[in-house]
Amino acid sequence: ALPDSHSHIRAQFPTLTQMLGDYPLCYLDTAATSQKPQSVLDAMAQYYLNDNANVHRAAHQLSARATSNYEKVRDELQGFINAKRREEIIFTHGTTESINLVAYGLTPQIAAGDLILIDTAAHHANIVPWQELAKRTGAIIKPIPLDQDGRLDRHAYQVLLALKPKVVALCHVSNALGTVNPVVELVQQAKAQGAITLVDGAQAVAHLSLDMAAIDCDFYVFSGHKMYGPTGIGVLYGRFDKLDTLTPLLTGGEMIKRVSFDGTEFGSLPNRLEAGTPPISEVIGLGAAIRFLQQHLTPAVQAHEAELLQYLQQQLRALGDVHLYAAHSDNLGAVAFNLGDEHHQDVGILLDQQGVAVRCGHHCAIPLMQSLNLKGCCRASIGIYTNKADIDRFIAALASVKELLL
Ligand code: PMP
Repeated sequence: ALPDSHSHIRAQFPTLTQMLGDYPLCYLDTAATSQKPQSVLDAMAQYYLNDNANVHRAAHQLSARATSNYEKVRDELQGFINAKRREEIIFTHGTTESINLVAYGLTPQIAAGDLILIDTAAHHANIVPWQELAKRTGAIIKPIPLDQDGRLDRHAYQVLLALKPKVVALCHVSNALGTVNPVVELVQQAKAQGAITLVDGAQAVAHLSLDMAAIDCDFYVFSGHKMYGPTGIGVLYGRFDKLDTLTPLLTGGEMIKRVSFDGTEFGSLPNRLEAGTPPISEVIGLGAAIRFLQQHLTPAVQAHEAELLQYLQQQLRALGDVHLYAAHSDNLGAVAFNLGDEHHQDVGILLDQQGVAVRCGHHCAIPLMQSLNLKGCCRASIGIYTNKADIDRFIAALASVKELLL
């Protein structure tokens, strides 16, 4: 059942009320980027309208205000993901930068022949930085295969873990399929073999309450723009002792303790990993997104999202001639499909002509597509503002596309 508050939540997203030609927008591409509530837009505007100044530097009041608002978000994030210390939160420009920061930062700790395990479902952002690390060090990358249900193969994982990998890179929720990894168990098993663990939570953070103490991974990464916040801001969470061992990817201002032409001493966390002027308005926007989620992503709303996704899966099955991929009832946020043998791009364009926005392609997960024997697929994804009418409109549009093509 729909919680009463739900239409009130949707009303906070100005973009969702627009028309595309004769059709009201039906936005089913939240996994690519979410829409932003008014409170996030207001917080960012407020910074530029009133407080605009660089952080951490000047003696003046504007800078003090900007710095305090910026650093407050670090505290809020610490609470939001249940991290032990505020210094464990590093602001980056997104998930991609967060993973690059870890993969680069670990370079001196990796030797030729070391093993790096990567989830087959990983987004390219959680593959390519590790490949570059392997190029620099001579480390070896092995994918963790999927089972027949499109989930991480637990047996194969055990066999690979017995090889004592140095790093295990997992995704929490697959961006292409919506499948969910049992990360608490997977991390525990990897750590028992002495691996450094990184979990990509880009697709988890808008749907789940995150608890770093429970997941207990060494590194956890996500992007602001997928959790109702702005683009250009991401988070790297790291256990203090692990984070403190990373070689900085970026060097320069803000990250130093002392500089002379004889040499430079780096500062301490978190500044050591945040060189240069940070994305200040984006951090402040992210703070508003966290407050939005803390207020609105209640267990009832989470249950509603789960029900909607199951309804979406059921309606796609009921339409007929639709192939679904790894569409389990406990998936989160997204459903991957193809219509008959039609090209995913054709289906996407025809849906767009009726105002329905879905994503089509390889979803930055080409190895995953290959393991499913697919060139690509369509993905419909939902968020906190999606309602049953969106799903019904999408299914009606897809039915008319089916009529046209099949
Ligand atoms: N990982 C996953 C699971 C994602 O869904 C995405 C975004 N599609 C990324 C990483 C990359 O995030 P960003 O582009 O924000 O850096």
